[in-house]
Amino acid sequence: MAYRYRELLRDEGIDFYAPVPIAHTNIIYSRKLSSMGIDENGSVLILLLPYYFRGEERNISLYAVPRDYHIYFRYLGEKLSEALSTDFPGYIFRHAADNAPIDEVDAAVRAGLGMRGYNGLFISPIAGSYLFIGGIYTDMPSDMFGEFSPITDKKECIHCGACRRACPGNMSDKAVGCLSAITQKKGTLTAAEEELIKKNGSVWGCDICQSVCPYNKNIPDTRIAFFRESRTPCLTPDILDGMSDEEFAERAYSWRKRETVMRNARLMVGKEDENA
Ligand code: SF4
Ligand code: SF4
Repeated sequence: MAYRYRELLRDEGIDFYAPVPIAHTNIIYSRKLSSMGIDENGSVLILLLPYYFRGEERNISLYAVPRDYHIYFRYLGEKLSEALSTDFPGYIFRHAADNAPIDEVDAAVRAGLGMRGYNGLFISPIAGSYLFIGGIYTDMPSDMFGEFSPITDKKECIHCGACRRACPGNMSDKAVGCLSAITQKKGTLTAAEEELIKKNGSVWGCDICQSVCPYNKNIPDTRIAFFRESRTPCLTPDILDGMSDEEFAERAYSWRKRETVMRNARLMVGKEDENA
């Protein structure tokens, strides 16, 4: 049978997805699940949304270069729910990403899509770890989604330790903590935190524990058009000043407000003492 939902996913550039019974997942927010009208007899279609894109000079995490993936997932979730309702009439289909009612990494591992990395991230043996995870929740049993073959039966990475050795937070003499978390901190930073940002040249986030991971060698660029478009790989005070409020609101870093990102960008050009 030719399912419309599979055609839609192929056309969107999404190649890796699989269903899991809700009863086999780790439920975090049962109220959210029941507010969707779904219980343990239902299932979740787990989707991997790769965003890897090579060849750019950047000073922010790769995930933050295109517009915020929540914008894309809202669009995709609606389109996919429509297609699924055509393929399987009479069932409920709801979408959630990030604030999901289940542990999505655990569900993606159980779906046979990949493994847990020592760096805490989900890793696909084909697409690597530069990916978002999303889910379509339904009261339909998982076996109705059609045939699926697991991509891997491994549950954990090879534990080579490269991510731990390369981590600037761990390597720092003062052990100031995760660089990504520090770039997201509001307010005034300590001298050690400022130094870590400057030394690593990161205005937002940190990809070091991903960039050294062997599973991210030779991975393909994303086929998802949304992640290939509207890219802003470098943030400077001038670029941030030039962004309208609407443009800024579409970026993944907007939740920490413009002044937090501006503070980091100023550190990079030695203007940390300037007023906003
Ligand atoms: S760098 Fe090595 S230890 Fe770290 S997540 Fe990748 S495979 Fe696992
Ligand atoms: S994001 Fe960067 S600082 Fe944080 S754990 Fe990974 S390598 Fe370390």
